[in-house]
Amino acid sequence: MVKKKELFLFLLLFLLGIFFIYVYDNIKEAKEDIFNRIEKHQVEQISHVLENIEKDILDYSEIKNSKDLLYLFENKSTREDYEHIISLMLTSNVKYAYILYKDERDRFRFLLDASKTDKANFYQKLDVTNSEYRTIYRIKKPQVIKQHDMENLYLTYLYPIIANDTVVGLFSIDITTNIQEIILESIKPLETFFMVLIISLILLMIMTVMQLFHYFVTRKKIFTDPLTRTFNRNYLEEISSMLNLSHYSIAMLDLDKFKVINDTYGHKAGDYILAQAAKVFKKSIRDSDILIRYGGEEFLLLINNRHKDSSTFSICERLKDNLSKQTFVYDTNEIKVNVSIGLHKHPALEKNMQEAIKIADRMLYIAKKNGRNQIVCYDEKSQNDISSSSKNIGFVKQALNENRITCYYQPIYCNNYNTIKNYEALVRIIAKDGSIISPLQFLPQLRHTNIYYKLTQTILLLVFEKFKHNEKHVSININFSDLINPDIENTIISHLGSNPHLASRVTFEILESDEIDNIKLFKEKIKLLHSLKAKVSIDDFGSGYSNFKTIIDIEANYLKIDGSLIKNIDTNDKDFKVVKSIIHFAHQANMQTIAEFVHSKEVFDKLLELDIDYLQGYYIAEPKSTLLEVHELF
Ligand code: GH3
Ligand code: MG
Ligand code: MG
Repeated sequence: MVKKKELFLFLLLFLLGIFFIYVYDNIKEAKEDIFNRIEKHQVEQISHVLENIEKDILDYSEIKNSKDLLYLFENKSTREDYEHIISLMLTSNVKYAYILYKDERDRFRFLLDASKTDKANFYQKLDVTNSEYRTIYRIKKPQVIKQHDMENLYLTYLYPIIANDTVVGLFSIDITTNIQEIILESIKPLETFFMVLIISLILLMIMTVMQLFHYFVTRKKIFTDPLTRTFNRNYLEEISSMLNLSHYSIAMLDLDKFKVINDTYGHKAGDYILAQAAKVFKKSIRDSDILIRYGGEEFLLLINNRHKDSSTFSICERLKDNLSKQTFVYDTNEIKVNVSIGLHKHPALEKNMQEAIKIADRMLYIAKKNGRNQIVCYDEKSQNDISSSSKNIGFVKQALNENRITCYYQPIYCNNYNTIKNYEALVRIIAKDGSIISPLQFLPQLRHTNIYYKLTQTILLLVFEKFKHNEKHVSININFSDLINPDIENTIISHLGSNPHLASRVTFEILESDEIDNIKLFKEKIKLLHSLKAKVSIDDFGSGYSNFKTIIDIEANYLKIDGSLIKNIDTNDKDFKVVKSIIHFAHQANMQTIAEFVHSKEVFDKLLELDIDYLQGYYIAEPKSTLLEVHELF
């Protein structure tokens, strides 16, 4: 994930930099060392000579019976003798050599000066500034005065003349040499080379750091969803190849009825709620979990399952509860939102991440179907037989190819006349072992795939063929995306257009789905069905958020009330009232009503109290492969 190449380069440059600084430092040290050695060498040479001269002077003064050097050198010829001896030391490097004496008032005076130029006179005063002149009297050891600021080595060597453990005078020798300059000159290119090298390295390092910084900033931008500040799908793509699926559970999260928030409070409020919900999600998960905005108001959560502290399910629960506890305020409106979650605990069992996501998505679909604001967890054990047979689309494809698609028919009963008004065609797949597989096990994952449309088409052909030759009526489930599919449209037109007798006995049950995003087109398609003389029924009415105007506009013939409102009608007074008003509304709008999920006598009787037109459900008859007769009901 990290840009390894740049990091490696940076590290390499850093190490090289340190190495060069080390070498550069060593060169400097070596230079100092060379200077010191030269100095020491020169001083040593001179010091041997001076030692001899000192000895000679002291011996001589012994002879002369005088320890006072002033007295000794007052004698001009003695002075000249010694000047001559000392002048033998003079070379191109040693230009000045003299003997100093400290008088009773602590002033330094020349006793003799062997220098060839700028020669001082006997007893001439010398103003000394360096402390070494005085120190030597105290510690009685030779002193070196270095002239640091000069390009040439320039030093003054002070050597004490000691008699009876007292410093009675001192030699002062000035040494100059340009060897230093020569060394400096020869080292300079090397020094410059390293200097340039180090500067280039530092520049390179700065550039690499800037590049890395830029990389991380853009990387953050590329992988972050600007609205919710969560990761986006680019990030999922980036990590999916290196993700160890066995370390994660996968959850698909989808905000409930989000469209309503947009429709009620506006898109901006929707954006705000979306961002806030994402914040709640982020607070509810741990650092090792990965939250990705997967699409619109849908999130993919990778839950790290290697923590012992909490199960992946409890993380989902925490997240769901935290959201439902929140009330968001936008423009003084108090808005609440819930989330439905489909969880796959062991995605590593699937072929790949996409397959695992599909399963989590299917669980999400079931959570939505079951009433939203809940978690549906994929149970591999109970799904094993399904997953082996219907996990992938290939299974349905195969069933299509092998003509193993069939329909079961459930009667829709008319109590007033004790007749079967209609048969609802319900798709089934015949498994290879002959068992019957219900659509709940394969339809959800087919949504929006080409196979889905092929399946719808197959059902249409099966039903048209079956009812062509009898007098009975049939209902077929179809949704908006089917209707706008050109192949399906052609199938309907070609079979019903040429056979009005059949067309008049066909009802299309259209799912009152949120997916109807183009109302105009929807109305056109319904008009087409009407023009063929087919009938139209609104399916699952009451399960979603109905657009009453659209429902009235399309002039549906029937309105089928959703099972969730019917199943408890005998015990739940609220449901009873809702159904009562739906029936009233339908009749006002010229639609007949159908109740589905009539599963008990109590529900049946309760519905008869209302002015319901038709009833359908297990109490009356289960779906069967054959068309039941009235006497076979109940
Ligand atoms: P449910 O999931 O419970 O079935 O209902 P829903 O209304 O949430 O479902 P659906 O998927 O049909 O609608 C999702 C809506 O979310 C449709 C779209 O306009 C809205 N949406 C998607 N992305 C954004 C977004 O970034 N900002 C806003 N404000 N709305 C968004
Ligand atoms: Mg959605
Ligand atoms: Mg939603």
